[in-house]
Amino acid sequence: MEEKGDGMRSSPRQTWRMVKGPRRLPVLVAIIFAAAVAAAITAAQSADAQSTSAGSSASVSAAAASGGAKNVILFIGDGMGDSEITIARNYHLGAAGEFAMDTLPMSGAYTTYSVQEDDPATPDYVPDSAATGTAWATGSKTSNNRVSTTAGTDEDLRTILELAQRSGRSTGNVSTAELTDATPAVLDSHVTHRDCKGPEDMDELCSQDKKANGGPGSIAEQSVDHGVDVLLGGARGSFEQTIDAGPDEGKTVVESAERQGYEVVYDADAMEAARPGSKLLGLFAEENMDLLYSGEPAKANHDFKPQTCKEDQLPPEQPELASMTTKAIELLEGNERGFFLQVESASIDKEDHISNPCEQIGETVNLDNAVAAGLEYAAANPDTLVVVTGDHGHTSQIIPSPQGGYFDEGYEYDVPGEAATLNTADGTTMTVSYATNTFRDENGEIIEGEDSEDSHTHTGTQIRIAAQGPGSEGVLGLTDQTELFDTMAISMGLDASASASASASTSASASASTVPNTGGFAPAWLAALAVALGGLVLLVSRRVLRADG
Ligand SMILES: [Zn+2]
Repeated sequence: MEEKGDGMRSSPRQTWRMVKGPRRLPVLVAIIFAAAVAAAITAAQSADAQSTSAGSSASVSAAAASGGAKNVILFIGDGMGDSEITIARNYHLGAAGEFAMDTLPMSGAYTTYSVQEDDPATPDYVPDSAATGTAWATGSKTSNNRVSTTAGTDEDLRTILELAQRSGRSTGNVSTAELTDATPAVLDSHVTHRDCKGPEDMDELCSQDKKANGGPGSIAEQSVDHGVDVLLGGARGSFEQTIDAGPDEGKTVVESAERQGYEVVYDADAMEAARPGSKLLGLFAEENMDLLYSGEPAKANHDFKPQTCKEDQLPPEQPELASMTTKAIELLEGNERGFFLQVESASIDKEDHISNPCEQIGETVNLDNAVAAGLEYAAANPDTLVVVTGDHGHTSQIIPSPQGGYFDEGYEYDVPGEAATLNTADGTTMTVSYATNTFRDENGEIIEGEDSEDSHTHTGTQIRIAAQGPGSEGVLGLTDQTELFDTMAISMGLDASASASASASTSASASASTVPNTGGFAPAWLAALAVALGGLVLLVSRRVLRADG
């Protein structure tokens, strides 16, 4: 890939490091203490290895006391903030229920703000998935709509997937959205704008990225040219566009993929039949994939009449996210150096935008089933870091229902925005409100979200991040989204500092940018000793820094 000049390459990174700096040391000290406690538990419980419960204290200790991660599986619920998880849990399992994602022993929160294109030193409090994805994929903040390029200066930012490839790992990128949508795109492409999905989408927003203009091409072209081993999701429409220059000029991106050694499949049966040995491109929908649940959208002037969602709505030719995850792992796990896999449930966000609670819940369940599949693999392969998080907050909120005790007599309550009431697994009702935008017709009357061309918005809140496995203590406390990149890079023994430089064509490069990966588990006593010494050093350095003011 073309280098885009040297300019102010590191400035966005310095910006976020300055912002988050003061809280980093207390977080680290907290991590050290947690790790020390966990390592001590490991030493005490090392004989008790038969426990497989993901939520047990034994798995906390395994997480903290282990060495490097051979594999990383990152699960992203797009737009999945605390509200979206709680809404889905209440509906599907009941308030006291436990999702697979709830069993991960290491849990914290992270901030997700982006930065302003015209002034990258200033935060933009409400981010989009392109900027948030760039943050966790590259360790650097950028402005909304950018895909792994810097705000203002348009330089390429090296991604965690590219670094994992350089370490010899296999890689996979899985989404229920278009494979060219922002979240999968940030791992294997670098473009100015997220809408530059296929070679015919480039003129308006990314003309300098066009292959005909010497650039790396659209998101679809770059994902194939990156040689990602497993690509599963939607976006047949983007991949069937015609390439405008280079060795595959005149071919579609699908034909280019086949020339570059991909098997291309279009339905669940063909995906299941795929065997290790060639790269796999699965395109299961023209655009985004279909959804697990359906129901009535939220409405303005809500009457609290409850509904129950229709389940099992996904057409059988489209695989569920859990099946895609299991197949991806099966195809990747043969590499003795390990793998990096990203799995996104994308339409939590998309249905949140258009105030469809059933569809939003179904896609959260879709993600959790995939997490369960990932945890099953990790239970048998504990050298696997598993991370589950969202990318930004979203609009939906749980508000009082008439069946609860919130509406005392005489309480005036005018439900804002649009709302829907659902029958939950607890045998009661839950009301969900969507009120980050108001839609009006030409007469000034409020119209309902799904009929509107506009949509509810993301929000700027911090959100949950949870993990288990080697390096998972990196998610504890309050961190920033950019630190997820560090957590994954450190766990895989990758040289994170390489992320600040512009990326070259990863599939062509032979130089491995890695530091030694311990690749296995240290004995518990060794880990405990290392953790204790590390904690001492950090405590001393903290005092020195404080003395310096
Ligand atoms: Zn969104």
